[in-house]
Amino acid sequence: MSKMDALRAMREARYAQDQARAAQRSAPPRVRPQPTPRPAEASTPPAHDAEAQPDDELCGHRNMSGRTCTRERGHAAKSHRYS
Ligand SMILES: [Zn+2]
Repeated sequence: MSKMDALRAMREARYAQDQARAAQRSAPPRVRPQPTPRPAEASTPPAHDAEAQPDDELCGHRNMSGRTCTRERGHAAKSHRYS
């Protein structure tokens, strides 16, 4: 094998390699990208029943007609306020 033939063989081999690499690069990815995981559902606590669970800041005492005391929790006033 002459020197020229060796050089040509080397060049052709490199060319073939480049072609193969280019084909790989342009080929569509075999693995489909994973779908982005949905963010976990907002961990909002279940809505409290306003009637059953009065605001912590309020007395929450209920009178006979079912109204809730609107005074602050542990209010000093002896009477409850239903407004
Ligand atoms: Zn009260």
